[in-house]
Amino acid sequence: MRVQSVTLDFFRNYTHLEVEFHPGVNVIVGENAQGKTNLLEAVAYLSSASSHRARYDRELIQFGIDRAFLKAEVFSRQRSHTLEAQLTRGARRQLWSNGVRLKSAGELSGLLTTVLFCPEDLYLIREGAAARRRYLDSCICQLRPKYAAALAEYHRLHEQKLRILKDWEEKPSLLDTLDDFSLRMAQCGAVIIHYRAHFVKKLAQTAPQIHAECSGGRETLRMRYETVSSITDPMAPTRQLLDQLLDHQERHRQAELEARSCLTGPHKDELTIFIDENPAKNFGSQGQIRTAALALKMAARDIFYQDTGEWPVLLLDDVLSELDSRRQEFVLNRITSGQVFITCCEEEKLTRLETGKAFHIRNGQLI
Ligand code: ATP
Ligand code: MG
Repeated sequence: MRVQSVTLDFFRNYTHLEVEFHPGVNVIVGENAQGKTNLLEAVAYLSSASSHRARYDRELIQFGIDRAFLKAEVFSRQRSHTLEAQLTRGARRQLWSNGVRLKSAGELSGLLTTVLFCPEDLYLIREGAAARRRYLDSCICQLRPKYAAALAEYHRLHEQKLRILKDWEEKPSLLDTLDDFSLRMAQCGAVIIHYRAHFVKKLAQTAPQIHAECSGGRETLRMRYETVSSITDPMAPTRQLLDQLLDHQERHRQAELEARSCLTGPHKDELTIFIDENPAKNFGSQGQIRTAALALKMAARDIFYQDTGEWPVLLLDDVLSELDSRRQEFVLNRITSGQVFITCCEEEKLTRLETGKAFHIRNGQLI
């Protein structure tokens, strides 16, 4: 799978950009704050309709402008696809594939898959559980449209249920709808847990080997998916997961009303990582944590390949400069197949890499 070209209008600091990429390694060079990350962000956006660093789509639209437009020519599944996105201030973003309007971001699944790796990801293990949920969500959404749909619906319901729990004392009539929201959250929650459990199973089969290679086999990586305590087996059919979620919700109904917050559900899930049997979050050294994060990211790339038969586009944002030479070597050796985008400030640093094409970016323009 590869991105053949990208066109941007009023996306971040790009007023207008048209660029053709190499099927191999694309190096994006430029000084700080010139638009390197913005370009990778644009490619990633067209794979999932979300950004790793913007909470709201409006942040992606150029300052002072009302509408941004992104387009990519992508080659995947043995043919070309045109993916387009239009972002409008104050309105919902719109997506197209080959000119056909998409109803949801989930419909982008499998057309363009990307794995983005940036310096913040090196702390994926040490950060709170939300960072690891984001990692899981980003991976699974790109592979499974049903998951993307369930997750979007779950977030929507979660926000509405929170509002009910915050305001029910002032407006008791809100309570009439509470159980309906809980039921629908449990239905979406069961789907989310099902897919997360299956993805973590694949991850547990893939990441330890990558981690062993990178750490010279000196350490072992293990992981555990932790979800709502009433779930006896997260791999069970969704029907069983639903029953157990509903049971748990019912037992916590009063507590939720008192706490005015949603106490139970997959929005609290955790992916616990162990290095040599100790939780890495608490006991891992700086280097161990980096190696484990690297293994999770590279494992995602392998899983995408196993799942779709095509290498996802790898977006490496500034990450090589953050790695010591042994880990750099490790990454560079693993990315000899598939299309890669690498950003850096100075080109010389990447001499060991066979560059397909280099792009120099200054102030949102290709020079
Ligand atoms: P670094 O090497 O520091 O990571 P970079 O080349 O990756 O730099 P980017 O993050 O891609 O930099 O671009 C940052 C620039 O884009 C900043 O100058 C920022 O002000 C500008 N920028 C960000 N969002 C917008 C926006 N919505 N409209 C216009 N410009 C924006
Ligand atoms: Mg950057």
